[in-house]
Amino acid sequence: MGVFKFSSCDGCQIAFFEFREMLQVFERFDVVYFLEAQSENIYEEFDLSFVEGSVSNEEDKERILDIRKRSKILVAMGACAISGGVQSAGNFEGILKTEPLDVFVEVDYELPGCPVSSDLLVDFLMSILHGKRPRTAEYPVCLECKRKGNICVTVLKGEVCLGPVIRAGCGAICPSFGRGCYGCYGPVQKPNLESFLTHFPQAHDVLKLSANAYNKVYKEKLWR
Ligand code: SF4
Ligand code: SF4
Ligand code: SF4
Repeated sequence: MGVFKFSSCDGCQIAFFEFREMLQVFERFDVVYFLEAQSENIYEEFDLSFVEGSVSNEEDKERILDIRKRSKILVAMGACAISGGVQSAGNFEGILKTEPLDVFVEVDYELPGCPVSSDLLVDFLMSILHGKRPRTAEYPVCLECKRKGNICVTVLKGEVCLGPVIRAGCGAICPSFGRGCYGCYGPVQKPNLESFLTHFPQAHDVLKLSANAYNKVYKEKLWR
């Protein structure tokens, strides 16, 4: 297994060390490349590669193409790798050019979040170990939020919350602490952005600056 970093804050790699259980799962893999975690690394072929971060220059582009060639399974880890992350908001202001992995290579799985959740990571690794297809949530954050019995922050305080158009999996962390979701898990498969923005136009700016600013769904709908 290999873990790689591109333009990112390293936060997703830290998810590997968050729980004692994670270390137990981790021990069952032969980790040959992980600069953040070990001093001896071998860059060769990989059964499983986790990639954090977005692609920002020619060197990055060559590196991700090479990692793809060497990897049987490539996992985009976190909002930066899946959709460009918060730094990709700069694309639309002409400040920089940074893009998600799937612009350059085929991605086998996505682990959403900013950062990814350690629970999802453990679940993913256990699925790989048992030869099962990893699970993903295909419903919005609102469902998890309601299951937790939260009072809606939009109804209660009039705050912007992207929960209706964002895929679940985080356990509705932000609304549970009384703030709106800013979209780090990325959009549900078919978000009804027209309806959402018609009823809630204040959400437009939050979507543009969310951790998934470059996501193709948002890009097509918001920057046409
Ligand atoms: S997705 Fe978030 S936590 Fe992960 S590397 Fe990017 S900015 Fe950091
Ligand atoms: S707080 Fe957000 S996630 Fe929760 S129900 Fe309201 S809109 Fe949905
Ligand atoms: S509530 Fe929204 S912003 Fe907060 S962790 Fe979940 S998906 Fe990310």
